[in-house]
Amino acid sequence: MAVLQPAPTPTIDPSNPTILQWDDLGLSLIYDFITEAEEKAMIDAFHAQDPLDEGNQKRRISQHFGYHFDYSTFGASETRFTPVPSYITDFLPRLPVQTYLPDQFTVQYYPPGSGIPPHVDTHSMFAEALYSLSFGSAVPMQFRMMGPNDARKMRLPKRSLQSENAGSGSTSTVPGKQCQRPDEEQPPTWELVLPARSLLLITGPSRYGYTHAIRPRKTDVMDGKTVPRQGRYSITMRTTRRGDEIGCDCAYPGVCDAMIREEMAAGGTSEVRY
Ligand SMILES: [Zn+2]
Repeated sequence: MAVLQPAPTPTIDPSNPTILQWDDLGLSLIYDFITEAEEKAMIDAFHAQDPLDEGNQKRRISQHFGYHFDYSTFGASETRFTPVPSYITDFLPRLPVQTYLPDQFTVQYYPPGSGIPPHVDTHSMFAEALYSLSFGSAVPMQFRMMGPNDARKMRLPKRSLQSENAGSGSTSTVPGKQCQRPDEEQPPTWELVLPARSLLLITGPSRYGYTHAIRPRKTDVMDGKTVPRQGRYSITMRTTRRGDEIGCDCAYPGVCDAMIREEMAAGGTSEVRY
């Protein structure tokens, strides 16, 4: 089990205290990105499609809009597109990075106590900026810096390219005991509380060099208080890369799917680059 470190301290612009920034991680958290009225409308629209009946209460429910992920090509499907509802398109002009307007949206309901395993959104198939809008309740998201152990795992033969649990387009790096070296230090791991109605923007190091996860827990400690985990919703927003855009030139060759593919095509290397 990971030993948590204190979350890094954000920079807050006094003229706009609702925006927390971690420049060296490429991470931003915007409080109150949507209003309570918008939040309620989103929850209502979500359950108009998937009612929270007895069968649905205890499982994670996902709804996909925009370009779907194609498991045969590990890219955006050209044929499967679901129209994006207005409760999403309405806030798109407010997204902070307008150069990467998302075209793939996954809306999820997490029942109380549930989480999502550590994963990295595939470098080569999605543009840099990832967004996660949280609503319904707050939850801590766990970030862990990837290191040589992850690089080794990503080069294991027949590794699964995506984790069903982690959602489409993700590379699972769930720690495996069999390749954990005892002399390896615990990589930096910390949690960031995502309040209801907040927008998280993940770019740079936090996008390419960290896994993110939500640990399944009955309770969380937030602001020093133990609180029961409640039902939560999120909208994950990604921009699909197509054709010549597919690939990656990030600064993390050890854990970059695009660079690993090139490396394998070139016959592999005996030493793991990191
Ligand atoms: Zn990369």
